[in-house]
Amino acid sequence: MDEENQPPQPNPERKSLDDRAKMTDLERLRHSCAHVLATAILKIWPEAQFAAGPPVENGFYYDVELSHRISPEDFPKIEAEMKAITKANQPFEKVVVTREQALKDAQNGRLAAVADRQVPSKFKLDIVQNIPENEPISYFKNGDFIDLCAGPHVMRTGNIGAFKLTSVAAAYYKGDEKGPQLQRIYGTAFKNKTALDEYFKMLEEAKRRDHRKIGAEMGLFAIDTEFVGPGMPLWLPKGTVLVEELEKLAKETEFAAGYVRVRTPHLAKEKMYKTSGHLPYYAESMFPKMEMDEHRADRKDIEQRIAELEKQLSDHAKKDGSPASGNP
Ligand SMILES: [Zn+2]
Repeated sequence: MDEENQPPQPNPERKSLDDRAKMTDLERLRHSCAHVLATAILKIWPEAQFAAGPPVENGFYYDVELSHRISPEDFPKIEAEMKAITKANQPFEKVVVTREQALKDAQNGRLAAVADRQVPSKFKLDIVQNIPENEPISYFKNGDFIDLCAGPHVMRTGNIGAFKLTSVAAAYYKGDEKGPQLQRIYGTAFKNKTALDEYFKMLEEAKRRDHRKIGAEMGLFAIDTEFVGPGMPLWLPKGTVLVEELEKLAKETEFAAGYVRVRTPHLAKEKMYKTSGHLPYYAESMFPKMEMDEHRADRKDIEQRIAELEKQLSDHAKKDGSPASGNP
């Protein structure tokens, strides 16, 4: 595919100053917890290289490059360090710096770190280099940890009442599959333990009411993860009636509103998903790229076989004296 014709992709992790100003209290708290997470990880693995650590729908994450593969078994150890940091109730201090200072500190490995290091803070260096000329550059400090960040945060680490690390996933720097692969550590945080407990109880309830579970129990569909795939229901008679009735209703409603229908293929080339903006954001939850027939070796075999048959046909026709045509 012609990559050079692609428009530059937005960095999904880069928030504008306007977006930042709109962060809710809970988002501030959760993003602050990402700083605490990074501080804790550095206590255990000082060489960790951090990329972006934004709040997300139900919590926060921080992307980290680290040779040690972090697994949920590491969570209690990391959470214990985090607990010590929130208990210490360190203030989050904002420091505005010049671009030169930021570049120097990034080179010295001092950004997203608790001290100078032997190697540059490479992702932070890249981020500094991409901050627009007119935008101020700031750090946020808690204890010895300094991060390049525009904020906002809570006042002190102690304002993060309750938190929990939830999962770890693979991610690419700036969502670019050709870029460095990082470990995305997810967590969530709340004002207090009651709110945290309620959240996990709600998740349990949601699991109990999961449509995949209920639909299967009601005999609407079956899901065969081994032979078909997860999220690909096989509609049984009762479920099919529902699907068709819904389709009928949708069509009637659309026609009544003056819409006309079109049909499109279910699949398209990678370029379309890049243009639509899905690929940079949802690559993790999308099906991987499909090898097209035209690239496959067996396609060549088929073409070769067709050529052989055509030759045989032509030779045969010559012998017979009849025209060599595929249409007798
Ligand atoms: Zn921050």
